[in-house]
Amino acid sequence: LAESLESAWKKLRGQDKIRESNIQDALQEVRRALLAADVNLQVVKDFVTEVEKQALGADVIAGVKPDQQFIKIVYDELVKVMGDTNVPLAQAETSPTVILMAGLQGTGKTTATAKLALHLAKENRKTLLVATDVYRPAAVDQLVTLGQQIKIPVFEMGTDANPVEIARQGLAKAKEMGVDTVIIDTAGRLQIDGNMMAELAQIKETVQPHETLLVVDAMTGQEAANLTRTFHEQIGITGAILTKLDGDTRGGAALSVRQISGQPIKFVGVGEKVEALQPFYPERMAQRILGMGDVLTLVEKAQEEIDIADAAKMQEKILKAQFDFSDFLKQMRLMKNMGSLGGLLKMIPGMGKLSGEQLQKGESELKKAEAIISSMTKEERQNPDLLTGSPSRRRRIAKGSGHSDSQVTELVGKFMQMRSMMQKMGQGEMPEMFGGMGG
Ligand code: GDP
Ligand code: MG
Repeated sequence: LAESLESAWKKLRGQDKIRESNIQDALQEVRRALLAADVNLQVVKDFVTEVEKQALGADVIAGVKPDQQFIKIVYDELVKVMGDTNVPLAQAETSPTVILMAGLQGTGKTTATAKLALHLAKENRKTLLVATDVYRPAAVDQLVTLGQQIKIPVFEMGTDANPVEIARQGLAKAKEMGVDTVIIDTAGRLQIDGNMMAELAQIKETVQPHETLLVVDAMTGQEAANLTRTFHEQIGITGAILTKLDGDTRGGAALSVRQISGQPIKFVGVGEKVEALQPFYPERMAQRILGMGDVLTLVEKAQEEIDIADAAKMQEKILKAQFDFSDFLKQMRLMKNMGSLGGLLKMIPGMGKLSGEQLQKGESELKKAEAIISSMTKEERQNPDLLTGSPSRRRRIAKGSGHSDSQVTELVGKFMQMRSMMQKMGQGEMPEMFGGMGG
């Protein structure tokens, strides 16, 4: 059956490889989404070219259209480029950990300095803040006020002192106080300027930070790329904080920053309040970026179809009698997906038998089975025989899942019946299998 399904789908869709010609629409969709999310044009080009190169020639998964599979590849790559997981702040082996904040004026450096200190305080880490922005009127006061608000000490020398000197003495003070982290807030300019960069480089040289965080305003859009390049080349950054994500920007700056510097985004700012800081999660950001132009819907659709194509693998498992409760659940979900394919199924020999009533029943069976199976332990899922001989296990599962003992017994019974039936059949026919599950 797996083979006949596969060839039927191939015939229906007429594609078996990802080629330049069959992903044009998808490519266009992805480009549009990235640009609409304010990813820098060059970054978009590089990213898409790279993914296209990877994808070309990849075998199409049976039953999945090449352009949908391509979009899924793009999404996975986007998550990967943005770092797969959240990267925590560096922590020095011997205290204090020194964090240097860098970035243009108005991006949210001073706010982020206080936000970070509060974040660390929640992990019981003690911080000293150092105010080196002597240029902007009231910049020192701003940090002092924030410090009072969150009860974190601030080191300052007024606005007449030299910023490099303030940083040096601030670090000395931090050692004297025995705090474990010192965060140095710095001045920014409206545009990148040579003096500011030179001063920042000098501060960096003096305090030898463990983290140099570039603070980037997410609203910066396209410009985030150039900004990142300049700061990374001239100062060297170890990470970034993307601020003002509470606005209506799609966060394309995240991709630009990451792609150009190769450094992770560690936090995002989501509001003016000191509490409005969150760790950066690549997957969420990828979704936000692709949310533009409904590419995300396409990703979901592709995922669904890829799951369906998994049926072939499942078939093999069944024949080898390795079918367990997790497969059972997967199979039920598969059935639900297939229902939504409606017309397509009718064209495949043997599939037309699934009636609407059967599918609906499948839906409520699925919910029940999902609840019951998720209350099983991993061992029980892999080894269903554990359950047939143990009423106490079944009772525990019933309680955990909010179902009755007899419902659990029934599900286990059905599973065993289905498994042995499938083994006997040798060549398991899918429609029979569904009938068996429906009861
Ligand atoms: P700096 O010049 O880089 O030190 O920037 P500031 O920390 O002084 O922030 C500039 C402005 O941006 C202030 O009005 C902040 O309240 C605001 N701001 C900072 N971070 C965020 C954020 O994540 N969301 C929003 N909506 N505003 C922010
Ligand atoms: Mg500031």
